[in-house]
Amino acid sequence: MRMGGSSHVGQVREINEDAFWCGAGMLVVADGMGGHAAGEVASRLALDTVVDLLGPLATQPEKGAAKEDFEALSRAIDEAVHAANREIFAHAQADPTLKGMGTTLTLALIRMGRVLLGHVGDSRAYLIHNGELVQLTEDHSVVWELVRSGGISRAEIQEHPYRNLLTRALGTARGVDVDLQQVRLGATDGLLLCTDGLTAVLADGEIARIIARHPDPQEAADSLIRAANKRGGPDNITALVAVPGAGQGE
Ligand code: MN
Repeated sequence: MRMGGSSHVGQVREINEDAFWCGAGMLVVADGMGGHAAGEVASRLALDTVVDLLGPLATQPEKGAAKEDFEALSRAIDEAVHAANREIFAHAQADPTLKGMGTTLTLALIRMGRVLLGHVGDSRAYLIHNGELVQLTEDHSVVWELVRSGGISRAEIQEHPYRNLLTRALGTARGVDVDLQQVRLGATDGLLLCTDGLTAVLADGEIARIIARHPDPQEAADSLIRAANKRGGPDNITALVAVPGAGQGE
């Protein structure tokens, strides 16, 4: 697939605590949290750990769908995210200025017409299917739980006082539950990974239309960032777009 990614501090925050990586069959996004730039440390640690551990798997030659061991790849993703959790937690324990730091982490490994996901927090992975966004991940947030239980509607998320409260994050405790998923990628399907700074200000339909207008994935990602900034850019914004075609990762 062809991939592009972009990240921006936004219009309100002083530092960008989001981090991303894309290339060679893998997309990763992390949205750090914590005082005094600790969030920046957390998202960077998460990214570096999973890219180190999974990068070699993402770039090894594909074996053909019948021989590809997708379960083993999914376990490797689970282990890598747990390793990232331990790394962040250990740093936070060792340095009082980093205490309480944490991060979201959403990663997608693309192999043989499938996408394998690992996910913790409220960043999102979407399938781009027939020009529409299909959200693959569930937000690990208080408001998402409220939506699931029927307490509020999806439209009410962005106005809710608890919209920033996560129910799961990486690095804030010794253990973590990681959502793992395998999804078939159709020949014309694409992927979007993003942080909540994008989805807080743009509706899924608006995001889909912007991506459809830009065949080049880097231009699509850049255009999404511009659109979020035009809406006030209240948070750090990160968008990664992968579309069908020869290039990185396929
Ligand atoms: Mn954010």
